[in-house]
Amino acid sequence: MNAAKRGLTPQEYRLEVQALLPPLPVVRLPLAMCRGLVLAEDVATAVSLPPFDNSAMDGYAVRASDVVSATAENPVRLPVADDIPAGRTDVVPLAPGTAQRIMTGAPLPEGADAIIQVELTDGGTETVRIDASVPARTHVRFVGEDVTEGDVILRAGTVLHPPQLGLAAAVGLAGLPVRRPPRVLVLSTGSELIPPGEPLPPGHIYESNSVLLAAAVEEIGAKAVVLRSVADDVAAFRAVLAQHVGEADLLITSGGVSAGAYEVVKDALSGQGVEFVRVAMQPGGPQGLGNFEGLPVVTLPGNPVSAALSFEVFLRPALLAAMGHTNTDRPRARARATAAMSSPPNRVQYRRGRHDAGHVEVVPVGGPGSHLLASFAASNCLIEIPVGVAEVAAGDEVDLVLLD
Ligand code: AMP
Ligand code: MG
Repeated sequence: MNAAKRGLTPQEYRLEVQALLPPLPVVRLPLAMCRGLVLAEDVATAVSLPPFDNSAMDGYAVRASDVVSATAENPVRLPVADDIPAGRTDVVPLAPGTAQRIMTGAPLPEGADAIIQVELTDGGTETVRIDASVPARTHVRFVGEDVTEGDVILRAGTVLHPPQLGLAAAVGLAGLPVRRPPRVLVLSTGSELIPPGEPLPPGHIYESNSVLLAAAVEEIGAKAVVLRSVADDVAAFRAVLAQHVGEADLLITSGGVSAGAYEVVKDALSGQGVEFVRVAMQPGGPQGLGNFEGLPVVTLPGNPVSAALSFEVFLRPALLAAMGHTNTDRPRARARATAAMSSPPNRVQYRRGRHDAGHVEVVPVGGPGSHLLASFAASNCLIEIPVGVAEVAAGDEVDLVLLD
């Protein structure tokens, strides 16, 4: 037993996990693969938007001066000299005293300076009756109103959500320079584990950490590769590692790192570049991290809530930082606990809770046990009880980490 195991605060350990994961390389990816990723360089546009003067309405292109006298009582009638659907490129100049029927997005004919929307006309195709005057520039979208050729339209560090991706496409870019999403191997350990969907023999449990951790990895835009879980057998565990060590940016294991016997992860990786430490956090005390033959490895405890909270507190921010995100923290809030809670005073305790936005209260959900997965699934925040606090009374204000 390793009595001299290093003890760390959650904050210290979080920084060690972050130091293990350097920034990912910059690659150019097609827009469809960029959602949620971080732009790695400033991007300038080679075109203006709109690229040409065009109509913002279905209607008639006119010279505003030709229709100044138009009212419903005394309409102006103009010959319709041409018809301009969107996409037409051979538009002829507008002769004085005429109109051209025009559709939204179609190029404005030379000489026209306003659009009369179709609702203010009789919709004629030979001649058109115009029932109102409009000032010059009405319903014209001018070249460069949105962006001008040469403008930086997206800054390095921007997280690419649908509007940013739409803008990139609108200026004609098919791809963007982003930090590549990390490839993360997820490996569960335990001889008692059975994959969901199979019959459950006595003394076994369903394996839930892989799917939970893979979903957490994918939720932040990283790529998860779930390996088949291994029994508590050092040789079997090492064989899986040997097979996959070159394939990824990170390996996350769960289970086999506590103080018992048959701690497969600890037994296989101690002295192999991975250090096992104690973090002053509950759940999630026993942790390990290091480099196994060049592959960054973070070993999480096996209890599902411990594994999930370890990911949340250490790996989520570290992976986000490696992906180039500058904001890696969840939003926080303070609220009054509706029930009393006790906590080990020498550790940060994360309880699960429900908190509705704008409300002053948080309802603790379930007890502190790290096997209480249903309580975790019913919660939407973590209640963070700091070191030095042994009792929270009902009505006390507590710190929340908001998960949704
Ligand atoms: P360990 O950290 O391996 O000692 O496991 C702690 C507890 O978590 C035990 O009750 C295990 O059965 C359970 N456990 C470990 N790994 C998983 C897993 N992948 N899915 C569900 N439960 C697990
Ligand atoms: Mg185990």
